[in-house]
Amino acid sequence: MTVHVFNCFTCNARWPSKLKTGMACLLVDTNQGPVLVDTGLGRDEYLRPTWMTQLFRIVTTMPFDANEAAINRVKQLGYRPEDIRNIVLTHMHFDHCSGIPDFPWAKIHLHRREFDAFTDHKILHWDEFAYIPRYITHQPEFVLYDTTDTKWYEFDAIPLPFEPEMYLIPLHGHSRGHCGLAIRTSDGWFLHAGDSSAVYNDETPAWLIKLVLGPYDPILREFAKNHPEVLITNSHMYPDFFVQHAKIV
Ligand SMILES: [Zn+2]
Repeated sequence: MTVHVFNCFTCNARWPSKLKTGMACLLVDTNQGPVLVDTGLGRDEYLRPTWMTQLFRIVTTMPFDANEAAINRVKQLGYRPEDIRNIVLTHMHFDHCSGIPDFPWAKIHLHRREFDAFTDHKILHWDEFAYIPRYITHQPEFVLYDTTDTKWYEFDAIPLPFEPEMYLIPLHGHSRGHCGLAIRTSDGWFLHAGDSSAVYNDETPAWLIKLVLGPYDPILREFAKNHPEVLITNSHMYPDFFVQHAKIV
């Protein structure tokens, strides 16, 4: 079992200027081939940036380098893009899913609440302006999941149909149907918390984290303290993270 972790979207803050982040996409070797987790910005965003990307180019200092698109990262890792038949999404904000048209043959796995939030065209919360309809105009096949009574530790968990053992972990709040992803590793677990936590960021005030990321950050920090066998990360990670954890086995 190998999880490749790579940066598929660099986005640095203008202030504080030392806050630099890449976005973690995963490529998980499974019994059904490589499974991509989140996609970062897709190739089309670099050619025809949506208003959301244009806004982020003003308020951040992103390099806007198309080499970071997941399809290019996948090739750099030695995989053929057409071998990726399954993509798991933590959620459908623009920076997590705009690359799905680059893999039109892939099934898209996510929580039904998130799919509904993306497709119902109701803005129930300000985060939903980050849903960009054009990413699914190619009509990909979706595999939608509902919360079950299965548990992973104390969290609700939805088994995914892959080996190694993988679970969607509903961590709603950053977006309506946002989920983390737990993957069994050789000596424990890897919990990719998506945009529900900022576990390595001790500078941003808790009220701001709660406002932007939802209610799970303190819960996950406490969980991390009590479970050293679980490697917890979130989507927007400091640059060195991608060097330290390029491959998880
Ligand atoms: Zn998000």
